[in-house]
Amino acid sequence: MIVRLSNGKEIPVEMHKVRIVQKTFLIPVEQRLKAIEEGGYNTFSLRTRDIFLDMLTDSGTNAMSDNQLAAMMVSDDAYAGCESFYKLASSIKDVLGFDFVLPVHQGRAAEHLLAKVFIKPGDVIPMNYHFTTTRAHFELAGGRVLEIYRDEALNTQSTNPFKGNLDLQKFRDVIKKYGRDKISFIRMEATTNLLGGQPFSMENLREVKKIAAENNIFLVFDGSLISENAYFIKKREKGYENKSIQEIITELMSYVDIFYLSGRKSSCVRGGFIATNNKKYYEEIKPWLPVYEGFLTYGGMSTKEIEAMAVGLREMTDVNVAGSAAEFVKYFAERLIENKIPVVTPPGGLACHLDAKLFLPHIPWSQYPAGALSAAVYIASGVRSMERGTISVDRDPDTKQEIPSDLELARLAIPRRVYTMSQIEYVVDRLTWLHKNRDLVKGLKFVEEPPVLRFFFGKLTALDNWGAKLAEAFKKEIGPE
Ligand SMILES: *Cc1c(COP(=O)(O)O)cnc(C)c1O
Repeated sequence: MIVRLSNGKEIPVEMHKVRIVQKTFLIPVEQRLKAIEEGGYNTFSLRTRDIFLDMLTDSGTNAMSDNQLAAMMVSDDAYAGCESFYKLASSIKDVLGFDFVLPVHQGRAAEHLLAKVFIKPGDVIPMNYHFTTTRAHFELAGGRVLEIYRDEALNTQSTNPFKGNLDLQKFRDVIKKYGRDKISFIRMEATTNLLGGQPFSMENLREVKKIAAENNIFLVFDGSLISENAYFIKKREKGYENKSIQEIITELMSYVDIFYLSGRKSSCVRGGFIATNNKKYYEEIKPWLPVYEGFLTYGGMSTKEIEAMAVGLREMTDVNVAGSAAEFVKYFAERLIENKIPVVTPPGGLACHLDAKLFLPHIPWSQYPAGALSAAVYIASGVRSMERGTISVDRDPDTKQEIPSDLELARLAIPRRVYTMSQIEYVVDRLTWLHKNRDLVKGLKFVEEPPVLRFFFGKLTALDNWGAKLAEAFKKEIGPE
C-alpha cells in the first residue's frame, strides 16, 4: 500500500508482518570475487551461503502467507482423487472461472504439454514476447516463435504504460502471411517477463481476442504474473481505477481459451497448471498428463504445494498482495533514477532492470554486457541478479551463430514480501558506487557453453581479469564488506 508521509513523500508500506525469518550472510568482497570466479561469472552457480540478498528471481522465492503454510498441513496425499486437488480446482473456478484443470509440476511443463499437443513442425506461434522456457519448448516441437510486440516495447527509457501490448497490425499481417493452418495459437504473456515485467492493457487483449476469434485462432494466456498485470491495469488504464483485482482478472479471463501459469510467481508456491473451459482442448491434453507429469489430481506437484496454491490464488486478488512487488519495484527504480543509474522505465512487475547497454556502453553485445553487469553487481554488493541479455538467447539452431538480444538487462528481482526498504537502500548505494566505477567493468567470454538454455550452466571468464580490479577498488574505497 502506498502511504503519503507528512513531508509529502510517498512510500510503499508493507501490509504484512514478518514472523518467520531466514538468516542471510554478507561475505567480504574478496570472498565474493572468489565465489563468482569459481562460478564462471554466472550468478546461477552461486550458493546461498555466499549471497546477501538473492534477487536472481521471483520464481519460487516469494514469502508465503500464514494461511498458505497452514493449508500445507492438511494436504491429502491420495494418488488419485486427492481432496487437495479439488480445493485447487475450486479456487481456479472462483478466481479464474475455468472448469477444467490440469496440474503440472511448474510452468514450463504446461508449455511442454501445450507444445506437444498443439504445435506441428513448421508452425508459427505469434506472441507479445517470448519467455526462455516457452521458446525452448515451442522450438523443440518444431514451431517458430514470432514476437509481434510494438516497437515501443524495446525502448528502455519510456513512459508507455503498456509496453507488453501486442501489435495488432503485425498480428493481422502474420495471419495473412502464414494462414490460419500454420498458426498453432496466439499467446499473450501477462507482464512480459523478459521485457522487464511490462503489462498489456485490457483493451489490447480485447482486440487481440477479436482478431483471433475472427480467424478461428485460439488464445493461450500465460498468467504466471497475472496479478501484477491486473494491478497495472487498475493503476494505469482508464476505466479500471475503481475495479477490484478480481473484477479485472474476471474480464481478462473472458478473452482466454487456454490459461496456464507458473505458480512460482503470483501465487507464491511451486507448481503450475493449465485450465480451460474448452472440453475438447482439455481432452486432447489430458492423456499426456500422466505420461510426463503425474496423475490428473496431482500432476507432479506436491500435494502440500497444491493446498498452498489453492490459497495463494485467492490471496493474489487482494490489491495489497497484487501490488506488493510492483510498488517496491517502483520505489527501487525511482531511487536508482535519482542516482542517475539507467533502469528500464516505466518500472515493471517483478524486478528492477538495469539497462546494461547504457550502464556499460563500452562493452559490445558480443562480450555480454548484461552478464558482466550481473557479475559486477555481485562483486560490489553480494546481491545476486540475473543476466537477461545475449547469454540468455541461445545460438541459432541451424547456423550456430550468436543472436544478439534485443535488450541487455541485469534483472534485480523483488521476491514478493521478502525484502525490506533498508535492504533496498543498501542495493541502491552499492549500485551507485558501481556506476561511478563502471569503467573498471569489461566483457566476458564463454569457456563452457551448453547447447540449450546456456545461461543456466554456462561458464565464462572476465576479460582482462576485471573482476579482481573491481574488487580491489571496492576494498580501497568502501572496505572489506
Ligand atoms: C516463470 C515463467 C514461466 C516458466 O515457469 P517455470 O515454473 O519456471 O517452469 C513461463 N512463463 C512466464 C511468463 C514465467 O514468468
